[in-house]
Amino acid sequence: MRADVVIIGSGISGAVLAERYSKAGKKVLILEKRDHIGGNCYDYIDENGILVSKYGAHLFHTDMKEVWEYVNRFSDWYPWEHKVLAKVDDQLVPIPVNINTVNKLFGLTISTEEEMIEWLEKNRLPIKDPKNGKEAVLDKVGPVLYEKMFRHYTKKQWDKYPEELNASVLNRIPVRTNTDDRYFSDRFQALPKHGYTKIFEKMLDHPNITVKLNTDYFDVMDKLIGYTKLFYTGPIDRFFEFKHSLEDKLEYRSINFVSETVDSEFFQSNSVVNYPGREVDFTRIVEYKHFGKQKSEKTTIVKEYTTDEGDPYYPVLNEKNLAIYQKYQEEAAKVKDVYFVGRLANYKYFNMDQAFKNALDLFHSLEGDSDANLEE
Ligand code: UDP
Repeated sequence: MRADVVIIGSGISGAVLAERYSKAGKKVLILEKRDHIGGNCYDYIDENGILVSKYGAHLFHTDMKEVWEYVNRFSDWYPWEHKVLAKVDDQLVPIPVNINTVNKLFGLTISTEEEMIEWLEKNRLPIKDPKNGKEAVLDKVGPVLYEKMFRHYTKKQWDKYPEELNASVLNRIPVRTNTDDRYFSDRFQALPKHGYTKIFEKMLDHPNITVKLNTDYFDVMDKLIGYTKLFYTGPIDRFFEFKHSLEDKLEYRSINFVSETVDSEFFQSNSVVNYPGREVDFTRIVEYKHFGKQKSEKTTIVKEYTTDEGDPYYPVLNEKNLAIYQKYQEEAAKVKDVYFVGRLANYKYFNMDQAFKNALDLFHSLEGDSDANLEE
């Protein structure tokens, strides 16, 4: 197996680096453990004729113009502002918390930002510099909404209560003092017209790129020759044979996706409904046909059960894990010509746009200005 550049993994980070290096004239070899490209963005048309994501809904949103322009090279996109409803006390309420959320849950008639700010001031528990997820939520919305919408959802998602996680995890969700019910507030919010897999196919469609599916790097590493750089996008602890995980392992969280066909046109009124209560074990139900208003006779729903077992999806951000990660990171810095990139190797809770940005930045830092010497 000969190449100038070897890339382990064909998710966002791997695909960006492959695309960039191939256009810079380098022979690129991608080794992908799974039987498909695209990492966790992989999507396909299922038996009901619906475009579904194999590893959970992926909603693209960014404030970074350069990332938006970059992804537009590989697909047409349609505007899509994601919304999420949460099933609380047998009602469907918007999350992030906004005026309508508290009106519905508490039978109120708040109608102005001033009244909402007043309600929050009465209910929140101000905490200076929240140290963990619980303090972050209490500081923003107070104990009643914490209990109803965040405490148990977080336990199901992470098998940890919010106080066992860094504030940044819960701070991903804002609180709104208006009626804006969008999940994200970024400038660019869209979905790819023909799905994410097509984007990856286009990024990797270059004579300089060879993709080997069903190939675990650790099985073939001795056969790789001639390369000057290797990019590793897998879990960092595996690269170092778990050497710093003997007492406490570096935790990654996985999801068990349970898909069902429902014999009716729709199952729920929105693409994603969260279940923050204890009455069910899953965290949310995704009904994919809502994305892009797809038409089909039946519908596909996917329940998400978060687990410790299975493919790693999420870094579990708390002090203990970050201390273990730091040991691996120090180790990683010493390995010559190997670069660790992406959510799993950098142990960062990257959104898609951050993964694009991080990989593009790495390429620029190693090879200079992006498009200057590249074919288009
Ligand atoms: N969260 C929650 N209740 C919700 C939605 C989110 O408690 O209804 C918390 C939970 O801890 C979750 C975090 O906020 O892990 C971040 O949510 P996000 O939707 O960003 O998670 P992702 O989409 O990445 O799974």
